[in-house]
Amino acid sequence: FASSQAAPSAEASTSSSYSIPSEMKAWTYTEYGGVEVLKLESNVAVPQVKEDQVLIKVAAAALNPVDFKRRLGKFKATDSPLPLENLTKKISSDRSGYDVAGVVVKVGSQVKGLKEGDEVYGDISEKALDGPKQFGSLAEYTAVEEKLLALKPKNLDFAQAASLPLAIETAYEGLEKAGFSEGKSILVLGGAGGVGSLVIQLAKQVFGASKVAATSSTGKLEFLKSLGADLAIDYTKENFEDLPEKFDVVYDTVGKKNDLDVALLGTELDMIYVRMTTGQCDRAVKAVKEGGSVVALTGAVTPPGFRFVVTSNGDSLKKLNPYLESGKVKALVDPKGPFPFDKVNEAFSYLETNRATGKVVIYPI
Ligand code: NDP
Repeated sequence: FASSQAAPSAEASTSSSYSIPSEMKAWTYTEYGGVEVLKLESNVAVPQVKEDQVLIKVAAAALNPVDFKRRLGKFKATDSPLPLENLTKKISSDRSGYDVAGVVVKVGSQVKGLKEGDEVYGDISEKALDGPKQFGSLAEYTAVEEKLLALKPKNLDFAQAASLPLAIETAYEGLEKAGFSEGKSILVLGGAGGVGSLVIQLAKQVFGASKVAATSSTGKLEFLKSLGADLAIDYTKENFEDLPEKFDVVYDTVGKKNDLDVALLGTELDMIYVRMTTGQCDRAVKAVKEGGSVVALTGAVTPPGFRFVVTSNGDSLKKLNPYLESGKVKALVDPKGPFPFDKVNEAFSYLETNRATGKVVIYPI
């Protein structure tokens, strides 16, 4: 019971000039499974704010693969227990949603840098997998630590801002961890996805890459070029590891063989075997220069490749805000969206096809 609601003793805010209801609408689930377990509840308790948190009136949210992987129970080991069915009423049981953009309507007693009325954005879970938040961003209100947020770039609307945090922080952290710097070359596997589309842009615009190559299916090659890719590789026609050119860094956001290869396989055991032995990371290693780095986000990793899990960090967003405000780095909302709040299940079905371009966004909330 305790884990499914904010401890009342954690309440450490004074008052708010906003009129905040005690209950809200939020997408919740009480059992692991596919999109069918998601429910839009209308009487979920609005979260209390702890002393270092603010309460956000959510305007927009974005979906990430980690949301549905969690819902499918892939991270059971680190998840807090699912709330029991009969406890969902009047307590916050929502677990979906990392990315948020909205307005601060209440501040905790120790909050220094934000005030009521500020328009903010961020990834609300500091560690994507460890102790993730009970209160997701797919809700009318969400409570977030001040340090995970930044002021929304002035030129972006809420939907655009919500599309960024987890993906841009992942892109940035991976490039930093790979030691990427001015004058280096990079190959981005999965360049059209939420993370890949930002890796291309950050490599070029923020880090000063000498050359950016990226992979996608045929219909998205022009999109890769519009993001700044110098070389767009059609993975349905070419094997990137067969290119004579090698790269200083390979950033692998795909982590498995392409769908065609997987579809040709028989049992799930076959698939696991292929992932462990001849997965994308294995191929990625063949495309890197001697002494270079291979960053992988998912799947098995072959040395010298390494995998990391993103840490949400408002300071990274603050650092990147000038690039967003100058338009050098663009927020990319998938053209099938934004999806309205009552269509979150449809938005997830779309994301789960693994074919999204840029980010799947929920707006308005
Ligand atoms: P998306 O759902 O946005 O990725 C969809 C894109 O992937 C599509 O545009 C698709 O392009 C492309 N794609 C699919 N298969 C291939 C392929 N074989 N080669 C090239 N492109 C391909 O996912 P995200 O970018 O949000 O996340 C990517 C992965 O990284 C997920 O598994 C996610 O869980 C993980 N991740 C891990 C993080 C961490 O901290 N470790 C943080 C963030 C994400 P097309 O239609 O052209 O195939």
